[in-house]
Amino acid sequence: MLAQEVEGKEKAIYYLSKKLLEYETRYTTLEKLCLALVWATKKLRHYMLTHTVYVVSKMDPLKFLFDKPALNGRISRWMVMLAEFDLKFIPQKSIKGAVVSDFLTDFPGESGEVNYEFPDEHLCTTNTDSWELYFDGASNQNGCGAGVILISPDKEHIPISVRLDFEATNNAAEYEACIIGLKAAIALNIKKLQVHGDSLLIINQISKKWKVRSEGLTPYQIYLETIDEQFDELEYKYLPRKDNQFADALAKLASMVNIPKELKEMPLVIEKRHEPAYVNALDDNNENEEETPWYTDIFNYIDQGEYPPNTTKRAQRALRLLASQFIIRHGNLYKPMTDGPHLLCIDKPQTVRTMESIHAGECGPHMGGKTLAQKIMRQGYFWTTMERDCHQFVKTCPECQIHANLQHVPPSMLYSLTSPWPFSTWGIDIIGKITPSGVGGHEYVLVAIDYFTKWVEAQSYAKLTAKHVAKFLERTIFCRYGVPP
Ligand SMILES: [Zn+2]
Repeated sequence: MLAQEVEGKEKAIYYLSKKLLEYETRYTTLEKLCLALVWATKKLRHYMLTHTVYVVSKMDPLKFLFDKPALNGRISRWMVMLAEFDLKFIPQKSIKGAVVSDFLTDFPGESGEVNYEFPDEHLCTTNTDSWELYFDGASNQNGCGAGVILISPDKEHIPISVRLDFEATNNAAEYEACIIGLKAAIALNIKKLQVHGDSLLIINQISKKWKVRSEGLTPYQIYLETIDEQFDELEYKYLPRKDNQFADALAKLASMVNIPKELKEMPLVIEKRHEPAYVNALDDNNENEEETPWYTDIFNYIDQGEYPPNTTKRAQRALRLLASQFIIRHGNLYKPMTDGPHLLCIDKPQTVRTMESIHAGECGPHMGGKTLAQKIMRQGYFWTTMERDCHQFVKTCPECQIHANLQHVPPSMLYSLTSPWPFSTWGIDIIGKITPSGVGGHEYVLVAIDYFTKWVEAQSYAKLTAKHVAKFLERTIFCRYGVPP
């Protein structure tokens, strides 16, 4: 059937039907579909050549034809014949109305419904109905406790913490914890369970790898066997203590807390918080303390023509002049700019946040006050004391204080000290008198230091005279390094 869409309604133009020839009945369903299409294009060539034709069918014959890697003679001939038409395929379900039913009667699919299911689909899913159990026992001078966490396949955590009001060894407490966990699992009708414990001894004893030597633990072992039978799959695994923190904590908690006699249990909920308690509160308080924004009077004047109460004529005129620079759009006050977008007027808390984010936020270059004000205006915000506030803000920015261009020039003038050659200039001094005196009663040291290399020549004396100094100079300086100029 050929139909044309006029004003949203499909109108039938042409009906065609064809009886398949004997050899054509042996075509596959898709080939029959292609045959129908080719045949229709032959018959309705004059309609189809000039228009885009939407082919409505269950399967896409065009895709079948044009995507086929190897073509036999018949199909390649069809392909060439169809190439001159502008054909588009639409799956059948997207066409509504009577046309579809007509079409269905004309072209009943041979195999009926298309089978969308993959073979062996069940193989792709994993077995997720297994629960996990973590247990730990604690025994200390305060008492004994058992901690258990049951984790459902959907990762729901069920914590159980039990205080053991009787004397138990650490190993016994572990057994108690394990049994409490298993019983809870039975109560929840859990059939597959993985049990994790951080005591190598207990895990190996329960899974019967090790023998139970202690008499105190034997009854536990026997009792556990009776519980084991109620599970379809039960697996014991050892895990290091650091991975069993929560069960450990629950057990410790139960062992530490003394539950009052009248109470049967202590309710406990552990919440998770990512922020300190004051996070949201402080910000709100600041805003509450803030008085009305600076533009309230202007806003009220433009919005309702109202002046603030108790104002002089002069002040009213000033307000009128000021208000002429602003407009209201969607309940917000804007300052129109001749060469850019309207600037949104913002109140005090917002100005601080804006300055912070533009000056020091993501990609904030920590610019100076004037640049900051200009940049804020470019971002589309305005308040009357922008430039002054920005200057003040930049002055109080700690990063700017630390990383600003610091002056490293020394406070006094620098003189360059050069030496024409090493050992050209010496300084000489006497150290003394030294107490206690050295070997042989030496109390004075004569020291000469070269200015350039800092080479030291020194000699000690019991008594220092001009003769000694002359000898020192002659022997250690002149003879070795020459006469200083
Ligand atoms: Zn800064």
